[in-house]
Amino acid sequence: MNVAVLPTSLETAPQAADPLDHLTDVLFHRMGSEGVYARTALYEDVVERLAALISRHREPGTEVMRFPPVMSRAQLEKSGYLKSFPNLLGCVCGLHGTERDINAAVARFDAGGDWTSSLSPADLVLSPAACYPVYPIAASRGRLPAGGLRFDVAADCFRREPSRHLDRLQSFRMREYVCIGSPDNVAAFRERWMARAQGIAQDLGLSFRVDQASDPFFGRVGQIKAVSQKQQSLKFELLVPLRSEEQPTACMSFNYHRDHFGTTWNILDARGEPAHTGCVAFGMDRLAVAMFHVHGTDPLAWPARVREVLDIETPGTIDAHVEGWR
Ligand code: AMP
Ligand code: ZN
Repeated sequence: MNVAVLPTSLETAPQAADPLDHLTDVLFHRMGSEGVYARTALYEDVVERLAALISRHREPGTEVMRFPPVMSRAQLEKSGYLKSFPNLLGCVCGLHGTERDINAAVARFDAGGDWTSSLSPADLVLSPAACYPVYPIAASRGRLPAGGLRFDVAADCFRREPSRHLDRLQSFRMREYVCIGSPDNVAAFRERWMARAQGIAQDLGLSFRVDQASDPFFGRVGQIKAVSQKQQSLKFELLVPLRSEEQPTACMSFNYHRDHFGTTWNILDARGEPAHTGCVAFGMDRLAVAMFHVHGTDPLAWPARVREVLDIETPGTIDAHVEGWR
């Protein structure tokens, strides 16, 4: 049989080029898994500058917390995550057996077999969003003050959605401002942030639109949840046309959870009613990728206004730090 007429298998078929592919080798080092990358100094410097810009917009009276990339499995279960996105969740597992069990698992691996069948789940999951851990912490503080509470949180997040596209990572950074308070507190917070975030996107020289959105709820029941979320205007996204106008990339989201977390964690507002919550989330890696895609891979050549808001040195005054990019 002539091998030339064999159908090309999926694995060997050339993958269609993506408009963001040109950035991969400039910004990242591959790590052997889709959507998981080591970051270059050039890229990380811009992520840090974007984070500093977002910090400069922090409202007074906002408490800063930074979370590790893992959180309590029990807390995430209680938050209802498994009802909405079970397919995206990553759970920490370990070899929890006796010394004999563990040695047997390693011996199986050494013999070319599978060691992972001996794994069992730990009490940790990989955080799928930055704000989940903040609600039980707020609940532990008792009734909310008048005006509610505001937090600035961030975490390395994980979502099991492997993709070769640079704007869909499995491991990515999320920064959020969170408001916990009365329905009025949260509505005002979201309105302020939807305006402020558009100002930030403008300062960054990104073209964008803000539109209603829904979360990627799992399964058929999930589709109904998504429709209802849209009907109630619970989620908006700031969309940047990176690969096309029709398929823009969500770089920020503005979320209203109503009393979901307030009821779940028994957080009471100043009047004794279940607290409402909302958050604005910045996808730090998506924003950084967007900047390089839109303005090019040399930040010193970015538009002057953009360099100014990110405090990027002007050409001619390149210091050792900036030299490190090259
Ligand atoms: P969400 O909770 O889905 O609204 O996510 C908040 C923000 O995180 C989004 O607006 C994105 O900017 C970012 N984000 C979500 N999923 C991913 C992903 N797979 N890769 C990179 N960034 C993401
Ligand atoms: Zn959130």
